[in-house]
Amino acid sequence: MTALRIGALSLARAAGALAALVVCLGLALPVAAQELRRPAPEAATPLGSTPAAPVRAEDWMVVAAHPLAAETGADILRQGGSAIDAMVAVQLVLGLVEPQSSGLGGGAFLLYWDAAENKLTSLDGRETAPSAATPELFLDEDGEPLGFFDAVIGGRSVGVPGTPRLLEEAHRRWGRLAWAELFQPAIFLAQEGFSPSPRLLALAGEAADSLSRQETAKTYFVDTLSAVVAAGDKLKNPAYAATLRTLAEEGADAFYEGAIAESIVAAIRRFDDNPGLMRLQDLAGYEVKEREPVCIAYRVYEVCGMGPPSSGGVAVGQILGLLSPFDLAALGHESAEAWRLIGDASRLAFADRGRYLADTDFVPAPIKGLLDPDYLAARAELLEGGTRLEQVTAGEPQWDHALHFAPGEALELPSTSHFVIIDGAGNVVSMTTTIENGFGSRLMVRGFLLNNELTDFSFRTHRDGVPVANRVEPGKRPRSSMAPTIVFQDGEPVLALGSPGGSRIIPYVAKTLIAILDWGMDVQEAVALPHLVNRTGVYDVEAGTRAEDFIAALGLLGYEVNVRDLNSGLHALAIGPDGLSGGADPRREGIAIGR
Ligand code: GLU
Repeated sequence: MTALRIGALSLARAAGALAALVVCLGLALPVAAQELRRPAPEAATPLGSTPAAPVRAEDWMVVAAHPLAAETGADILRQGGSAIDAMVAVQLVLGLVEPQSSGLGGGAFLLYWDAAENKLTSLDGRETAPSAATPELFLDEDGEPLGFFDAVIGGRSVGVPGTPRLLEEAHRRWGRLAWAELFQPAIFLAQEGFSPSPRLLALAGEAADSLSRQETAKTYFVDTLSAVVAAGDKLKNPAYAATLRTLAEEGADAFYEGAIAESIVAAIRRFDDNPGLMRLQDLAGYEVKEREPVCIAYRVYEVCGMGPPSSGGVAVGQILGLLSPFDLAALGHESAEAWRLIGDASRLAFADRGRYLADTDFVPAPIKGLLDPDYLAARAELLEGGTRLEQVTAGEPQWDHALHFAPGEALELPSTSHFVIIDGAGNVVSMTTTIENGFGSRLMVRGFLLNNELTDFSFRTHRDGVPVANRVEPGKRPRSSMAPTIVFQDGEPVLALGSPGGSRIIPYVAKTLIAILDWGMDVQEAVALPHLVNRTGVYDVEAGTRAEDFIAALGLLGYEVNVRDLNSGLHALAIGPDGLSGGADPRREGIAIGR
C-alpha cells in the first residue's frame, strides 16, 4: 500500500514536470530541445530533513546514498581496510539496497587520490557498445529516432557492464583486505534481507509497468516487494547473494565468462520485442581504461574530474573557468546576477559539450582547447554586460584536427549514485556509478539489473550531413555527464564530491563547488542549497524551495523559468585543518559516517 501511495504521488509530480517540459519545448532552441527532452534519470521523492551541520570526524569518512551502504564502508575502514576496500563493499551493498541506481550490471567512473604516491588516477568502467552495434541502433526503419522508452526497455540499450571489472582492477591496485572479505556484508544482507527504503518502494511502484515486461524483474520488484511490504518482512535477494559468492571466489572473470555471462547475453538477445546485440565475446573482451584526469585552476584551487568518455570534468571545468573573471564571492548566493553568470556560463559549456565531447578513443576532441585559459577568457567576455545571452552556440577552441562535429542529442535519465570515502591514510575515493535510467533496461539477471547506458549515445547519427561525435559505434562508450570531482589546494586534496542527475550532474556539481569555494558554505549547506540550473536556455528552479524567490528576477532578465523537482544526490566531504566534514543530499536517503 505504502509503495502504491508514494508511487502515485511521485507519478503525479512527474506528470506535472513533464507537462511543464512540453510547454517549454515549443520555445526552446534546437540544441536546448535535445537536452530538455530528456527526463531526469530518477524521479524525486519527498525531501528528507537537512542536518543542521555536517558530520565531523578526524580519521576517516564515508558518504553514500543509503545508510546500509555507508555503514558497510565504515565497517571496512574500522577493520583497517583502505578507501578502495570500502569502495568495493559500498558498491556491492548499493547494488542490493539501491538497485534502481547502480550495480554489477552497470558502469562507473572512479577518481582516486593515492596519498602515499601523491597521485591522482581516474579509472573508466563505462559500459561499451557491443561489436555488432551500428550507428543506426536507435533509428526506426524510416531513419527516425526511436521513442526514448521504446529504446530503453529491453536488450537494445544494454552496454557491456564495466563495474565488476572496475572493482577488481581498483582492488588489485590499491586494496588491502582480501577481495572475498569485501563481499561478505552484501552477501549477508542479500541472504538475510533488508528493509526496502521509502525511495526504492516509491520508484518501484512508479516503474511497476515497465518492470513487469520481464518475468524476473516483475517477480522481484513487483510481486516479492509488494508481498514483503504487506507482511512487514525484509526483502531478500538470494540470486544476488549467489552471484556475489561466485565473484568472491572466482573474481570478475566469473562475470565476464561462463554461466553469468551466458545469462546476461540470453536475457538481452531473447527479450521479445526489443532484443539487443550483445554476444559472449563482447563481455569477455571488456576492459577498464585508465584515463588522464581533467584539471583546471580555479581561484586558489585545482579542480580535477573525469575526462572522456565523460563530459563531466570538461564541462564543470569550463563553467568554473568562464566564471573565474567574476567576483562571485562578493555577489553572494542571494544575487540574481550571480545566477545569471552561473546559468549562462553553464549554457556556454553545454553548447561545447554537445558539439565536441564523446568517447575520444573513437572521435578526436579538443580537450586542451576547451579548457585553455585564453579560450575561456574570450568566451567569458560574452558574460559581461549584465544581460542574459540571447543565443548560445559552441565556440571554436584551438584544435589541430580539421573535422568538426554537429551537436548530438542524447537523453540521460535517472539512475545513478555518487559516494565519497577517505581512509585514515588520506586516500580519497570519489566515484559516480550508474545503470543510467531508474532500473536501467528493466532486465534483471541473477539478482542484478542490466543498464540502459547505450541510450546515452545520440540517437541521430548525423545532422545536416555532419556526423554527430556521440553517435553509436561498435566498441564505443556513450558520452556521460558523470562528474566525480576532487579539489586540491597546494597539492593536497581538500574536497571530494559528485552527484547523479543525468546531464544536470554538471550544473549540480559546479554550483556546489561555487557554494563551498566562493560562498564559504560548509559541505552540508552546500549540498542542500536549493537548485537553480540552466543547461540550454530555460532556467530550472527547484520547486518548493527558496530558489523560487528568484523566479521574478530571472524572468526580468528574460529567462524562461521552469519550476520543477531537481533530484540531485550530492555527496561531499571536505578535508580541512580541523578535520573531516561530510554532507549528504536531503533529496535522497544518504548519510555521512566518520570517526
Ligand atoms: N547516464 C548518465 C550519465 O552517465 C547518468 C544518469 C544519472 O545521473 O541519473 O551521465
